[in-house]
Amino acid sequence: MNKNYEVGSIVIMKKNHPCGSNKWQILRTGVDIKLKCIGCNHVVMISRIDFEKRLKKVEV
Ligand SMILES: [Zn+2]
Repeated sequence: MNKNYEVGSIVIMKKNHPCGSNKWQILRTGVDIKLKCIGCNHVVMISRIDFEKRLKKVEV
């Protein structure tokens, strides 16, 4: 399963966002990962450790 991601990648998370989408685009990587929800454009920052726990797969 592809788990290599970079800025611009679309990723599928294990849990859906409250808007119903489970797809996010990576805006920034590092110790923290900045993500934008594809469904509602909500932006979040989470630690890389939490991100990798919640990550299901990388789509693009
Ligand atoms: Zn959303």
